[in-house]
Amino acid sequence: MGEDKMYDVVIVGAGPAGLAAGIYAGRAGRRAVVLDGMGGGGQMNIIDRIENYPGVVDLESGAQLAEIMRKQMEQFGLTVTFDQVEKVEATEEFVNVVGSETYQTRALLIASGSRHRPLGVPGEGKLMGRGVSVCATCDGPFFKGQPVAVMGGGDSALMEAIYLSKVVKHVTVVHRRDKLRAEKYLQDLAMAAENIDFIWDTQVEEILGDKEVTGVRLKNRKTGEMQELEVSAVFVFVGLLPNTDFVKGAVDLDPNGFVVVDARMRTSHPRIFAAGDVRVGSARQVGAAVGDGISAQVCIQEFLDTDTPPREF
Ligand code: NAP
Repeated sequence: MGEDKMYDVVIVGAGPAGLAAGIYAGRAGRRAVVLDGMGGGGQMNIIDRIENYPGVVDLESGAQLAEIMRKQMEQFGLTVTFDQVEKVEATEEFVNVVGSETYQTRALLIASGSRHRPLGVPGEGKLMGRGVSVCATCDGPFFKGQPVAVMGGGDSALMEAIYLSKVVKHVTVVHRRDKLRAEKYLQDLAMAAENIDFIWDTQVEEILGDKEVTGVRLKNRKTGEMQELEVSAVFVFVGLLPNTDFVKGAVDLDPNGFVVVDARMRTSHPRIFAAGDVRVGSARQVGAAVGDGISAQVCIQEFLDTDTPPREF
């Protein structure tokens, strides 16, 4: 591939980190492409309400914020290209980003985000999309007037439980400990909802149902006591896994698979940077991902201008 076909930067992932970097890359007139196997927006697409993104107070959903970011990037000449990246080959002179075609680039930004961790219990895979869900906004309305369960005790579980409580008949949050991990504000809202109950110290043994979910089999971790709970749907929010399979071997990952970066979003390879949920130590907020994307792109621009590794701050 000749110099003229070489991208300045390839951005993998069009969630908040990738779109923010794309806005900066487009505005700086870089030859750039933003790749996303799902079309973009990332986890913003499944956020029911955005109320802690500074400067934004009256948007209906995360999907709306994603749309605004995408349009803003397009104003600077970059669009999201549908492509699922399978692997990355990094040399000293360039990086090959391999999807349905190969994109050769002087710098790569990994902004591929994270996905929901599965519970890993019997019934979960078989009944996915038949009552098992990782998106309350998408699937909650199917269960109007019915009881559902939410698995997990973090911010995601409680945010989704609060949303579901307004849509379905009753929500049972099943948590493996007796203390929630979620921020206090969400805990207070969930506790105040009349149709949200909690089952503590309990893990799911099996999701029950043949063609659709009919209930869950639960085990109390302290007493060993088993119980069955009748529900029409199970919403699983037990954490996030990084989307880093395609960069294994190209950059250093931590033991959980997150990309190791320094404060300037540089990875172990001088031409590769990472931003957002996919990087180690991310606050995993839309605003934090946007900040990461900008930090990374500012650093990438310094690198492109000098073609030497960016300086430390
Ligand atoms: P998380 O904070 O990692 O919480 C996962 C929850 O699932 C924890 O309560 C954990 O229990 C439980 N869990 C983990 N593995 C489990 C298993 N195998 N079986 C049963 N339960 C299990 O994940 P998250 O709630 O998805 O949040 C991810 C990140 O996004 C966090 O940094 C969060 O702050 C952020 N986030 C922020 C917002 C916001 O608007 N502020 C909204 C959503 C998410 P333990 O508590 O016992 O570990």
